[in-house]
Amino acid sequence: MRKNYRDQRLGEEIKKIISQLLQRELKHPALNQGIITISHVKSAQDGSFATVYFTGIGLDEGAVIDGFNQSKGFIRTEIGKAMGLRFTPDLRFKVDETEQYGQHIDELISRVSGGDSGSAAGMTAVSEAGMTANVSVSEIVDLLESYERFLLFPHVSMDGDTLGAAVAICLSLRELGKRAYVVIDEEIPDIIEFIEYKTTISIKEAEALELENYLSILPDSSDVSRIETRGELFSSGKESLCIDHHITGNPTCDYNIILPEVASTCEIVYDILTEADYPMHEEIATALYVGILTDTGRFQYESTRPQTHRIAASLMEKGVDVNRAFNEVYQKLTPSKLFVEKELLEDMEIFADGKAAVGFITRKTLDLYDAKDADTEGMSEKLRSIVGVEVSVFARELADGRIKTSMRSKNYFDVAALAAKYGGGGHIRAAGFTSEKTMEETLSDIKKSIEAGLMGDCGSDPQ
Ligand code: AMP
Ligand code: MN
Ligand code: MN
Repeated sequence: MRKNYRDQRLGEEIKKIISQLLQRELKHPALNQGIITISHVKSAQDGSFATVYFTGIGLDEGAVIDGFNQSKGFIRTEIGKAMGLRFTPDLRFKVDETEQYGQHIDELISRVSGGDSGSAAGMTAVSEAGMTANVSVSEIVDLLESYERFLLFPHVSMDGDTLGAAVAICLSLRELGKRAYVVIDEEIPDIIEFIEYKTTISIKEAEALELENYLSILPDSSDVSRIETRGELFSSGKESLCIDHHITGNPTCDYNIILPEVASTCEIVYDILTEADYPMHEEIATALYVGILTDTGRFQYESTRPQTHRIAASLMEKGVDVNRAFNEVYQKLTPSKLFVEKELLEDMEIFADGKAAVGFITRKTLDLYDAKDADTEGMSEKLRSIVGVEVSVFARELADGRIKTSMRSKNYFDVAALAAKYGGGGHIRAAGFTSEKTMEETLSDIKKSIEAGLMGDCGSDPQ
C-alpha cells in the first residue's frame, strides 16, 4: 500500500489540475462541449505516463480525445509547473469504460428508485451498475475479523454520517477487545459532538502507533483527497477499506463498498455490524441513528427508503434516545448563527427565472458575529426551500481562504454532475466542491454553470 501511495497521489494531483484547466484555460472547442469529468488518472509504475480517464454527458468522445491530444503540451507544462516536476509523465486520454459518472448517473437513478426492499447489502451493488467492484458485506466482516487494529478517517467538513459511521465501527470493535481510533484534524461541530464518545485522536497521536498493523477505514467518502491532511497517515496502514454511498468518487482503497442507493453510510455500517453479529449497544446505535437522521434531513429527502426507517426503528429498540438526539442536533440555534443567516438572506440572489438561488458567507461575516464554520450548516437547504427554486448554491470562505460550496436540488437537477465538473462530488440532490478561486469568481462561474445546467446538461424540468 505504501509503495502505491506516490502513484496514487500523482494520479490524484493530475486529476485535480486537469479538472481545473478544463474549467478555465482549456479553450479547445471539443473540450467545451457539455460537462467533461475526469473520473480518475492512473499513473504508470515507472512514472513515464499517466492515463487520464474521462466521461461526460452527450460527448463526442473521439473529438474530446483529439481535443485533449492537441492540448497535451499545454496540459503537461501546467502539470509540471503546478507540481514542480522535473519530468512530467506523458498523458494518454481514454473514455472511462466503467462509466462511473455522467451518462450512467441516469441509469443509476432509475435503478435506485426501482428497488426498495431488503437490506443495504442486498440491493444493487455499484459493481452491477458498471462501477467499481464492490466487496460484499460478508467479505468486509472477514476483513474486520482478520485485523486487531483499526484507524477510521471521517471526511473533512465533518458531518453526522461520516462521524457516526466512524464512531460506531470504532466502539463496536473496541467491545470485541480490538484497538480502534477515529483520527480527526478539525473541531467536531457542536451539534454532533455528543456522539464522539472518546473515540477520537489527533494526527500526532496516530503517528505514534505501529501503523503497518492497522486497517485504514474511510467512511462516507470514496475519495482519499477528502481527508486532506490525514492522507499520508491513511496510506500508512497495511490495507484500506472504503464504505460509502456517494454517486461520485475516486475509489482507490484495497476494499470498497459503495452503495449510492443507500441514504447514509450509517445504514451500510448497520448492515455490516448486524451481519457480523458485533455489539451494537446504545452509544453505537445513537451514533448510527444521528448519521441517518442528518443525511436524510430527518427522514425527509427522497433518498430515504423504507429500509432506512426499519434500521432507525431497530436502532431505537437498541436504546437510542430520539428526543435527545433531536435536541442535540436541531435545537441549538445560537444568536451568532441567526445573525449570519440574516447576512446570507440580505445578499442572497435568485436567478435563472427564479429556478436558482445563491448565497455566500465570508470569513469577515463569521468573525463579525463570532460564528463558527458549523454555524453555516443548513444554509444551502434554506436557499433550496424557496418556492420555485430547483437548485441552490451556498458558498463559504474557509479559514485558509478557499471557497467551499454546498449545492442542493429539489426534483430534477443533478448537482453531483455539476460538482464533479469542479473537482468535487456528492449525491444527485446534495453535492459540493472546494475552489481555489475568489468568492466572486467562484460564484460567477457556478451561476453560469447552473444556468447552462438548467438548459439541459444537468437534467431538465420534467413539466
Ligand atoms: P455539503 O454541501 O458539504 O453538506 O455536502 C453535500 C454532499 O456532497 C455530501 O455528501 C458531501 O460528502 C459531498 N461533498 C461536499 N463537498 C465535496 C467535495 N469537495 N468533494 C466531494 N464531495 C463533496
Ligand atoms: Mn458526509
Ligand atoms: Mn453520507
